[in-house]
Formats: sequence, C-alpha cells, structure tokens
Amino acid sequence: MRNVQATQLMFELSRPGRRANMLPECDVPTNSLGDLYPASTLRATAPELPELSEGDVVRHFTNLSTLNMSVDTHFYPLGSCTMKYNPKRNERLAGLPGIVDLHPLQPDESVQGMLQLLYELQGYFAEISGLPAVSLQPAAGAHGELTALMAAAAYLRDRRESRINVLCPDSAHGTNPASAKMVGFNTITIRSRADGSVDMDDLRSKVDEQTAVFMITNPSTLGLFEKQIRAIADLVHSAGGLIYLDGANMNAIMGIARPGDFGADMMHYNPHKTFSGPHGGGGPGAGPICVQDFLEPYLPVPRVEKRNGRFVLESDYPKSIGRVRSFQGNIGVLVRAYCYIRAYGATGIREVSENAVLNANYLLARIKPLLPVPNGDRCMHEFVASAAALKKEKGITAMDLAKRLLDFGFHAPTVYFPLTVPEALMIEPTETESKETMDAFVRAVETILGEDAAAVQAAPLSTQISRPDEVRAARKPVMRWQASQ
Ligand SMILES: *Cc1c(COP(=O)(O)O)cnc(C)c1O
Repeated sequence: MRNVQATQLMFELSRPGRRANMLPECDVPTNSLGDLYPASTLRATAPELPELSEGDVVRHFTNLSTLNMSVDTHFYPLGSCTMKYNPKRNERLAGLPGIVDLHPLQPDESVQGMLQLLYELQGYFAEISGLPAVSLQPAAGAHGELTALMAAAAYLRDRRESRINVLCPDSAHGTNPASAKMVGFNTITIRSRADGSVDMDDLRSKVDEQTAVFMITNPSTLGLFEKQIRAIADLVHSAGGLIYLDGANMNAIMGIARPGDFGADMMHYNPHKTFSGPHGGGGPGAGPICVQDFLEPYLPVPRVEKRNGRFVLESDYPKSIGRVRSFQGNIGVLVRAYCYIRAYGATGIREVSENAVLNANYLLARIKPLLPVPNGDRCMHEFVASAAALKKEKGITAMDLAKRLLDFGFHAPTVYFPLTVPEALMIEPTETESKETMDAFVRAVETILGEDAAAVQAAPLSTQISRPDEVRAARKPVMRWQASQ
C-alpha cells in the first residue's frame, strides 16, 4: 500500500520548463489583462507553480487517491456514520446536465422539475418519519439539530414560555448538546442504565417546567432501540417539553417504525448516511428536518410548495426563523437521496433496514466470542464492543486494534464513542456488505487478537502516516505547502 511516488509533492517533482501540452500560437487577438482588470489587482511576477508533464500530474493525483480508504475500496464499518455503498447510478443521475447546470437564482417557472423533485422528496421524508412538515435547507445533521431547536425556541417564545433546559442522554452524539448550547439552552445529561436504556428515575428527577426539549437518538448510539420511548415522550410532553429525535440511525428502522408515531415532535435525517450520499472525504451532507404541524410556521423559508399544479418557493411565513442556508440546501445530496428512495420504493426501503439489522446481528454474533459486547444480546444496525479486558490482559487498546485493522485492509470502526462504554469499538456493517466480507473482518480481528501486543501497538505498518497526533491534526492542520526554510 505504501506508495513512494505519491509521497513526493508536485513541487518536488517539478522541472523547469516541463509542460503538460503544447498548443499552437493563439491567432485570436487577446486583450492584455491590464485592459480588463485594474492594475492594482494584478501580480507583478508569475506565481511559482510546479512545472509538470500531464503524465506526472495524472499519476500524482491517481496515486494520492489510493492512499485513503473509502467505501469503494474497503469495508468501512464506521459505527454511527453509516458508510454504506454509494450507488453509481445516483452519481450519474445527480450529474445530469439538467441538474448540475441549474442556477440557484433562476426564476421558479424555469426550474419546475427541480422544485417538483424537492417537493416530492419532502413528501417521502414526511412519510418515512411520520412527521408532516419538512425543511430541506439544513446543510448536515448537526445543522438540522440547530435549525429544529431554533424553531422550537421560536415556538416557545411565541407561547411566552421561558423553558431553558435541553436534556440529552449520556450516550448522545456530541452535536446534540453542542446544538442546544448554540441556540442558548442549558444542557442537562440524563444517565443511562447498565443495559443502555434511559434511566427513567434520573429523567423523572430532571424533567420539569424548565424542560424545553429532550433530545434522543433512537435507535441509540449503542445500536439499541429505546423501548421506553413512548413513556419518555409522555413524561416530557406532560411537563410541556418537546421531543427531538436524532435520526442518524434511521437506517435501522425505515418502513418499520416512525418517529412521529413513537412520540417525536421533530427530527433530522442524515441523507449522506441513511440515503447513501457519499460523505466523509467524499462530499457534503444534508440535514433535512421533519416536524409536527404545530412547529411548521417556524421552519426556515423559502419553502417548496405546490400551488395550482405549479411549484413555488414561498417565503410568506411571518413566524419563520428565516433562512439557515443559501438557496435550497445541498441539492446534490438531496437529488441522490431522491434517486435512492425512488429506486427502492416502499418495500425496498424497508428491506434496506431489515438487512442492515440482519447484517449487524450476524457480525455481533461472530464478534462476541472475541470481544465483549456489553449491551449486546441483540442489536439494531450497529453494536459497541469493548476492548477493556484486552487492554487489561495484553495492553492492547481499542485504538491499537483499530490501527492494526488498517494493515488487514479494513477501515477502523469508530473508537471511544459512545463514552459510556470503556475502550469502545462501534461497528456498523450496513446492509451493503456481504457475508464473505464480514467473515473476512472477523478473521482479521481473530488474527490480531492472537498477535504479540508489541506488533499491534506498532500498527499500522502499511499506511503513509502511522499514528498522527489526532488532536493537533484537527486543531492545527497544516493546509498549505511551504518551501523548507
Ligand atoms: C452523524 C451524527 C450526527 C451529526 O450529523 P452530521 O451530518 O455529521 O452533522 C448527529 N448524531 C449522530 C448520532 C450521528 O451519528
């Protein structure tokens, strides 16, 4: 896997005078740049760009592209992220000229097809969620959380209620409390019981007239369906609070259970997870939200509506929180979600979830004899194994194991999340992986567990970079090449 050519920078490969192509002299008169742009905006000397042949450039970028793992090249069991295969058909359809050549400022009349697609997609999202009012505008899941909480805050203000607390279980994704804080709420953590479910006693002691919203991920980040969800919703509703459903795990329940039916007032989807949009390094996400009728007046504008058989962008909602993103959101991801839903249809979408759950339970059953799964008799679409015993016995941590898996050609699972499981390894095969791939993954884990601790601790050996300082890489990324001083 180590690829020497790709380790050199284009600047290092550069040779003076080398060119990608040779064009005949231009016989069309050209204005000098000075006629077109003010002199103050022009640079005095040409930029020092690398000088390379076309072959150098193509090889450089092609080789670079092989240094990463992706769903197109490797099994990618990243829990919570739903790294399923991205159907190429969706890419083709989203790349049709009639879609990519649209300008977002075109008049509604000239983009009826796109507006119809968005309108129908709103309907599909409403149907799958059981929540009737939809906004496609938010840019990703976390942005959906923020937008829905802003709508909830506007609703509460409208009712002259000064509820200030948002409650989140201790297994919640970090974006949940972060979004609540950004909207100006206080956050309160609700304990989970040993079996991973919400501790109802703790919840009861913290729900009161100050409760604005209870945010819950169901199925949870432990891959468990919260069976008390109706009781939780009744408790929160009877105190005048609202239920937010983090829909990142909808891949487990589509066509089987609807958040609107089990008590949610609002939710977001992650189309880049559930509806197969390429994500991570592969592209942007989207964070459409669905809400109950009583929250509809507060949704972002403009809204896509149908009037007398025509589709329009309507902004006449005086109580709306306004715009949260430019234009209609990340259209490219939404088009892929539309294609995905249309391709599968109602029964196919349900099968997606059934197979995601079946695959996860197969893998759970095979991993459990190797690594303890604290909450794992059965799971939904993912499960969380623990390397705590392995660490104690052999000194091999969840991180070591995850790093060593890279050498076997498997992307690492999510590690150290949720925080409630020590040395957590969160594994989600998704419905798109075969039994053979999952078996190969189990064999790799088995092999690694039989290895010397020192070998595992030194992993990965096959990647370009072995163990970066992850905090520094995230906080102080080096985004620019600099000539060595
Ligand atoms: C991915 C995820 C989010 C955030 O979604 P983004 O689209 O990454 O912003 C929130 N909650 C859970 C449980 C998630 O897995």
